[in-house]
Amino acid sequence: MQGAVREHVAMLEEAGARAKPVRRASELSEVDGLVLPGGESTTMSKLLETFELLEPLKARIAEGMPAFGSCAGMILLARQTLDGRPDQQQLGGLDVVVRRNAFGRQVDSFEADLDFAEVDGGPVHAVFIRAPWVEKAGDGVEVLATVSGVPDDTARIVAVRQGAVLATAFHPELTPDVRVHRLFVDLARKAA
Ligand code: GLN
Repeated sequence: MQGAVREHVAMLEEAGARAKPVRRASELSEVDGLVLPGGESTTMSKLLETFELLEPLKARIAEGMPAFGSCAGMILLARQTLDGRPDQQQLGGLDVVVRRNAFGRQVDSFEADLDFAEVDGGPVHAVFIRAPWVEKAGDGVEVLATVSGVPDDTARIVAVRQGAVLATAFHPELTPDVRVHRLFVDLARKAA
């Protein structure tokens, strides 16, 4: 619907998947897994309704389709959003409560090197753009990465996985590092 679609497609291809954009329900039925890019979560959920993708997408996710949400995509996959607009739709798939724009405004966007569980080979360089954080994660949710020092010393959850549903508060598609996409492709492959 929005966001760095081309970058995600390129990263997925580099990670060994066959990738294509999905804008309608018929295209959704052709894929084994879905990436929800960043953007603006309220607008994205409205566009999902306009394109009649919201309900089919909810159904696929409820059936266990592997999904990866970055930033606004994480917001959409969450069970609940704090500080969201009233008409914000949730796709579910992740038993987490996220706080939207948690790190502050656009000017508070930042980058950080994160230890990322399930990703080998050293820290992941993470680009946060008006990012959410995970305020509460359910028992079935693996916390894969946290960031602290922004805006205070509290460790904030910024990457999670529940089964084959992965989400990052940051944008791995905006760096050349393909490891997070590879993690998702591996999850999707195992699920298939
Ligand atoms: N701030 C946006 C939102 O709340 C997310 C930003 C992003 O995806 N980079 O939807």
